[in-house]
Amino acid sequence: MTVQAGRPSDRIGDERLGAAQAELVEMLRGLIRIRSVNPPEPAGGELEAAHYIAGILSDAGLNPQVVEPFEGRGSVHARLQGDGTGGEPLLLLAHLDVVPAPPEGWTHDPFGGDVADGYVYGRGAVDMKGTIAMQLAVVRLLAAEAREAGRDPAADPVPGLSRDVLITVTADEEAGGFGGAGWLVENRPEWLQAAGALTECGGVSVTAAGQRIYPIQVAEKGFAVYRVLVHGTSGHGSMPRPENAAVRAAEIIRRLAVPGRPRLTPVMEHFIGATADALPTEPGRLLRTIAHPDVRLSDAAIDTLCEPTYARAVRALLRDTISPNIIQAGVKYNVIPGEAELYVDCRVLPGTTEEQIRADIESRLGDLAEASDVDLVIFGAPVESAADTDLYRILETTIRAHDPDGSPVPGMVPFATDAKHTARLGIPTYGFSPLRLDPNELFLDRFHGVDERVGLDALRWGLPVLYDAVREFCGTASR
Ligand SMILES: [Zn+2]
Repeated sequence: MTVQAGRPSDRIGDERLGAAQAELVEMLRGLIRIRSVNPPEPAGGELEAAHYIAGILSDAGLNPQVVEPFEGRGSVHARLQGDGTGGEPLLLLAHLDVVPAPPEGWTHDPFGGDVADGYVYGRGAVDMKGTIAMQLAVVRLLAAEAREAGRDPAADPVPGLSRDVLITVTADEEAGGFGGAGWLVENRPEWLQAAGALTECGGVSVTAAGQRIYPIQVAEKGFAVYRVLVHGTSGHGSMPRPENAAVRAAEIIRRLAVPGRPRLTPVMEHFIGATADALPTEPGRLLRTIAHPDVRLSDAAIDTLCEPTYARAVRALLRDTISPNIIQAGVKYNVIPGEAELYVDCRVLPGTTEEQIRADIESRLGDLAEASDVDLVIFGAPVESAADTDLYRILETTIRAHDPDGSPVPGMVPFATDAKHTARLGIPTYGFSPLRLDPNELFLDRFHGVDERVGLDALRWGLPVLYDAVREFCGTASR
């Protein structure tokens, strides 16, 4: 299969593309102004966002549906028809909730949707209302094509579309998705069931050694959260004792926080090899050593090649990680605590089981294991989708067509997305929210960070990329 090369707007047409890009920016600003914060504060923001999206889809002539499985928490879905000759649908999957955004440190109102210095500012700009707006813009272009052919976009096939295109935007992703995508898997699987899904965190350029790399997410790490209850002996604070549960907990934290050894998974091996091939000789050589079993060599290579934020991400992608994130002990300043409670956030690579990471924790506890109870709080398995599907190949080809100097490569993210849920339905899910970024933009720092923002040019570039990828997978237009 080949993607039309040449100017990015060839398929859409310049005038129509310009209008769609402007509309994309306005939809994003509208979404940012809705406080769809998770945990819900104020209540009902997610439902309001779902209705806002439903309004945009209705306006395009579609017949969207909104569900509210929990009060104030809405997810929304619509379907564009293909002629059915191309197989199962393509799913555009997004989440409409955002993490909280205390205004301290922001130079713009996090819920203002300001446009300044070539960026749209606000919570959700990158995670992931920018992608929702891009997906909506693609769906609206397709619906407009149906209308222009005298068809009803809610009932008739879009000209040239051989598969259906689904758009499903969910609540609650930021807290695990159980009130969104997880609920849909159980109760509305037809909103998700597809030959493949495109969601957040991929197709975003990273510039390394002057070269634009586009990791397309085919994998994500799993998570295992444990509660560790540490037992000790209480007593009067005037007479310290080593069995103080807080002292034991401190030692346990120290042992848990030591980074583990690197382990190269097949996806990371592919990522490193493909990226190193795209780089000049010396950085390429260095990149091939980032997973060296000698941690000092691995660390030195990472620090030379990466900005600090990316260095943390790369380290996390090369090993199972353990982060002790909550500690509680004691009731009064002069009473030695007899118990301490820890919550430990483990992120596991594909290939690591819950039993294995638990065994790692228990061996790290060493002589303190006898004084501790380790209980699993929640587990989500790692996810890996094949990088040899037609859909994945189309994503790579489309990126190359729109940026002939860029290098798309398969990648992994260290955190969880709604792909955990679509995996339960066997749907290959790829992170594909195409953005061509300014080389100095520290994209990862914007996630859940202050001054979250996305570049107008990056969004404008991404829209025809996503459109072309959808068109290519779902049947090309006859125009
Ligand atoms: Zn997200």
